[in-house]
Amino acid sequence: MKVARNVYADNAATTPVHPEVLEEMLPYFSEKFGNPSSIYSLGREAKEAIDKARDRAAKAFGAHADEIYFTGGGSEADNWALKGVAYANRDRGNHIITTSIEHHAILHTCEYLEEHGFEVTYLDVDEYGMVDVDRLREEIKDNTILISIMFANNEIGTIQPIEEIGKIAREKGIYFHTDAVQAVGNVPIDVKKLNIDLLSMSGHKIRGPKGVGVLYMRKGVKIHNLIHGGAQEKKRRAGTENVASIVGLGKAIELAGRNLETHVQRLTGLRDKLIKGIQDRIEHVRLNGHPTKRLCNNVNMSFEFIEGESLLLSLDMVGISASSGSACTSGSLDPSHVLMAIGLPHETAHGSLRLSLGDINTEEDIEYILEQLPPIVDRLRALSPLFIQEKGGKINV
Ligand SMILES: *Cc1c(COP(=O)(O)O)cnc(C)c1O
Repeated sequence: MKVARNVYADNAATTPVHPEVLEEMLPYFSEKFGNPSSIYSLGREAKEAIDKARDRAAKAFGAHADEIYFTGGGSEADNWALKGVAYANRDRGNHIITTSIEHHAILHTCEYLEEHGFEVTYLDVDEYGMVDVDRLREEIKDNTILISIMFANNEIGTIQPIEEIGKIAREKGIYFHTDAVQAVGNVPIDVKKLNIDLLSMSGHKIRGPKGVGVLYMRKGVKIHNLIHGGAQEKKRRAGTENVASIVGLGKAIELAGRNLETHVQRLTGLRDKLIKGIQDRIEHVRLNGHPTKRLCNNVNMSFEFIEGESLLLSLDMVGISASSGSACTSGSLDPSHVLMAIGLPHETAHGSLRLSLGDINTEEDIEYILEQLPPIVDRLRALSPLFIQEKGGKINV
């Protein structure tokens, strides 16, 4: 079906590869195909490209190049950080602290570790999705070896007090890992200033390619190797490198860093215009996540009397791609664990919509969403017996 406009508003799920990123990647699929471990110039050329990407990633977080390890994405970096640190520090303790709103790459890894003799504390969050640092302090025990708390939440955009958490972890001599997949490119990050020992990021969330990520590890962190084999990634993650993707990630991170300030300013403007526009035009809505300590690109709202799934399908019919924390997307009937954790009733969680913005979005995109969304919400609510009841049975659409 022909639509008036296509608006991609699901940048927290993935982003399109930036044209400059693609351009830098392409030669590594063709003429520059060498194996980075080979000593002749074709190999050395590939090795130098990886080194350059590593320098770029290091510079983006204020790290050293030898603290950057390329992985097969954000999930792999999360798995490596948790399992690697847990098993390597078992002699010191078996207790891990995380939160109830982490990405499944963290939560399911923690569940796995619980099945293998580790004890995990899942910190609750408040109504805005914020961790309480005093609670964190109280949960620390003599056998706590790792704290893993996400930088910013992928569903509701809440940004955690990472600096305070890092300070506590460092004082107590406990490793601090953060899943920064959503924060990189949207928030300035300095791993030294924030006392972060390990950090995960992903290429495809910042206009790089899919299937490549980074685990930053502070020098001296005790961690098990991930893949045994050749000497790649200082023998810690063996296997011939995904050269083109690593080059692409390097370029994407460089672009993100170069434009960070203007990006944050512009997207904050678009985000707030969208939130206010929805609140002005539609009744019975609530903003999920923190009103100010939230990612510049995240809008998450619940619409009472509506199913998120129906909303997504209707939006898709007018060319708008978005996401929901409701059922079905995950193949389960339970609403998102994040929306449950901030205390939303099931019905409210089921009617949630996430619009996540990116560089590619414009003012016109926001206007288009604000024009299309209200009549869709009206139409769907007109089908809801509960809404008709709320209106005293006098609904007429
Ligand atoms: C997308 C995402 C991941 C997973 O990254 P992949 O590269 O897709 O494996 C992990 N954590 C968060 C917060 C994410 O948003």
